[in-house]
Amino acid sequence: MLVVMRTQATEDQVRQVVDTIESMGLRAHPIPGAQRTAIGITGNTGAIDALTFELLPGVAEAIRVSKPYKLVSREVKPDRTIVKVGQVEIGGGDLVVIAGPCSVESREQTFAVANAIDRYGIKLFRGGAYKPRTSPYSFQGHAEEGLKILAEVRDVYSMAIVTEAIDNESLDLVEKYADMIQIGARNMQNFSLLRRAGQCRKPVMLKRGMSATLEEFLMAAEYIMAEGNYQVVLCERGIRTFTDYTRNTLDLSIIPAVQKLSHLPIIVDPSHGTGRREQVTPMSRAGIAVGADGVMVEVHCQPERALSDGPQALLPSMLGELVQQLKEIHQVVTNLAVSVR
Ligand code: PEP
Ligand code: MN
Repeated sequence: MLVVMRTQATEDQVRQVVDTIESMGLRAHPIPGAQRTAIGITGNTGAIDALTFELLPGVAEAIRVSKPYKLVSREVKPDRTIVKVGQVEIGGGDLVVIAGPCSVESREQTFAVANAIDRYGIKLFRGGAYKPRTSPYSFQGHAEEGLKILAEVRDVYSMAIVTEAIDNESLDLVEKYADMIQIGARNMQNFSLLRRAGQCRKPVMLKRGMSATLEEFLMAAEYIMAEGNYQVVLCERGIRTFTDYTRNTLDLSIIPAVQKLSHLPIIVDPSHGTGRREQVTPMSRAGIAVGADGVMVEVHCQPERALSDGPQALLPSMLGELVQQLKEIHQVVTNLAVSVR
């Protein structure tokens, strides 16, 4: 249920609604908006009587949310969410580019990438310290040592750090060192990890599971938000289909679908989405063209020597060209959005 306050409702009246919800053993999620404040209610198993709230002062109406996901939905929050990571706003209309190596392999390799991409204005640096690998014999990441290297990159280059947590234990450390917590495709339905991420006060980037439907994807985000963390960015990273030329099929049609149903920002990851270096640039362009809030791409100075995902890594110079192209496309999309309104 969603309790919508009147435009002129006072803070005290909002407080009274929150107290009433909590006294019923439920959780209140106040959502300030441009026009009015709304308060989402979660934790109820059965229906709640709308009158309980509609009789309270300052309440305009109490409405049942028709979708299975609540806090994620546009019904509950019509205004788009902007997630701030370091100095970057995701979802606020700016073009966002997250770049860095697949894995933190060594201090030298990580700094070489950071140094090479800094000149292209990259403000969000990615790199995995915990790697969920298909084979137990593949490089698994340097864990906390890797996180320390990433934290050094932040200090030297003023880039905010995005890195993956693969379980509750690694999440404790990722929360300590990083600016944004990545939940990977393989963990999209790891519900205890999602809950734990929901208890963090750092933004979360949630990647789509490789066989997840749109509803499952949004429900996974709902797990995080239901715990009180509303700073969630979705990431389309390709799904499994019958095609085998590309590593995955980048499902760009999910971008406008998510934007219709949810207020959360969504970015695309054409590196994992295609698995092929030469496809990363065209599919990044396509992602921005369909209205994604940004892209996340993997970069390596010596891809042939990479310990993970070398075939999909861009060279730094390729990233430079990509950023230039994306800026042009983003400008066109922004102008179109303005003229359509
Ligand atoms: C990654 O971004 O490094 C990664 C492992 O991606 P995904 O979870 O999408 O496979
Ligand atoms: Mn990778």
